Amino acid sequence: MSGIANAEVEIRDRRLKSIISFQGKASELQEYSEQLKKPDKDRCFSQCSDCAQGCAATVCYNVRGAAVVVHSPMGCFANTPQIHEQIKNSAAGRGVEAFKAQIICGNISEKETIYGGLKKLREAIETAQERFHPSAVFIQSSCAAGIVGDDIESLADEMAQELGIPIIPVFCEGFKSKIWSSGFDAAYHGLLRKVVRKPEKKQEDLVNIFNFLGSDTFTPILKKLGLRPNYLVPLADIDTIARMSEAACSTQICETLGTYIVDVLEKEYGVPKIHAPAPYGIDWTDQWYREVARVTGRSEMAEQLIRDEHERIRPELEELKKDLSGKKVYIYAGDSYAHNMASLVTDLGMEICGITTLHHDMRTDGKDVKKSTLNEMIRVAGDVENFTVCNKQPYEVIKLIRRTSPDFMIVRHMNMTILGGKLGIPCLLEGEINISAGYDGLLLMGRRIRDLLKAKGILSTLKEYNTFPYTDWWMEQEEEYI
Ligand code: SF4
Repeated sequence: MSGIANAEVEIRDRRLKSIISFQGKASELQEYSEQLKKPDKDRCFSQCSDCAQGCAATVCYNVRGAAVVVHSPMGCFANTPQIHEQIKNSAAGRGVEAFKAQIICGNISEKETIYGGLKKLREAIETAQERFHPSAVFIQSSCAAGIVGDDIESLADEMAQELGIPIIPVFCEGFKSKIWSSGFDAAYHGLLRKVVRKPEKKQEDLVNIFNFLGSDTFTPILKKLGLRPNYLVPLADIDTIARMSEAACSTQICETLGTYIVDVLEKEYGVPKIHAPAPYGIDWTDQWYREVARVTGRSEMAEQLIRDEHERIRPELEELKKDLSGKKVYIYAGDSYAHNMASLVTDLGMEICGITTLHHDMRTDGKDVKKSTLNEMIRVAGDVENFTVCNKQPYEVIKLIRRTSPDFMIVRHMNMTILGGKLGIPCLLEGEINISAGYDGLLLMGRRIRDLLKAKGILSTLKEYNTFPYTDWWMEQEEEYI
């Protein structure tokens, strides 16, 4: 039975041998990855973690016209309200109509965790149907539903028949995986099984771009090759998602986000995946253009385009490098997302004094480990001496950053900007990575960093007035790894 025939996709811990702790050099982690061997030492204490539901939500909550039933206790649903603003802002940046996320929490209680929650789930789906008239309903599972063993798959099939719309189970129970990115795969797996159809016709100029909410920067990037982006999944409707199999090829803004679905699309529907890192930094953008051009039969156009683009950006890039060269940067982001950032700052002449990724996939779906973004990062940026994997453990993070004294940080999540501010370090919040793609994305990144560094003064003042609960003795201790 192929993977897509199974109700659930195997979690990353087993499928990709993913890890959440490592301290060493980037090259050492690459060696472990090539051997698919876990590092010898592991964290002996964990202060916090996150849940796969969050990553599943970044896919499911943002599908235009669909509803989501979160089959969980109310506590699992706590981070939902900000989503409407995010959709509104992203829709504006992409020039499309905004919409409201349509989400219901089934509010499983003690009774359902003992006797089963299918009755409550059915009621929640019926309420979603009555209230929103959705084009599809996602069911996000939870620890409570998983532990009691609710047969969500059977109920989904039954109700899909009754309501005449796809009902899509997403098995993203937090207890199953230490890697919260498993939630992306769970959501994609549900879409691949219940929504994506065989192609009726091929759209030869259409490129699937798997991304988060974000602006429309890939239209100008692809237009140079006479191609157009099919942004997936956030902001797309169910029909667009169903027809992703018609595209000429698939790529992603971050391998951590997209390689599972890109790999299945190639295997199941013959949509070629782009064998190049995402287009961040000059070398990676060159590779990406060449590969997209190759699979769409435009190779000659690509070579001229690359020459012209290098020439076009050179004067401003040289100016930016004069200002930024030698500045020390610490990068704190998801796995491949961080590698993308490292590729960018290298082209701006900066020194990477440390990188922390939130987890690390020892291999990538359907890909040679030597082609991983970690390996590509080492090739363009050189080895990174201070490379760590840490799933946001506060007691570790503060020590990692303080030891390296960066001029600034690039971070993926808002909470890290607050920590950076308290430490007197300016932080570039790279919440939306679309804007940094391509040659123009590199220039924009340079301008943003140059502006950011002007904030150093005010943050130094803030640092003076901030106190942390840690003693000097404690700060000097090494993290305990066993
Ligand atoms: S699904 Fe599990 S891990 Fe996730 S928020 Fe709910 S209880 Fe926590």
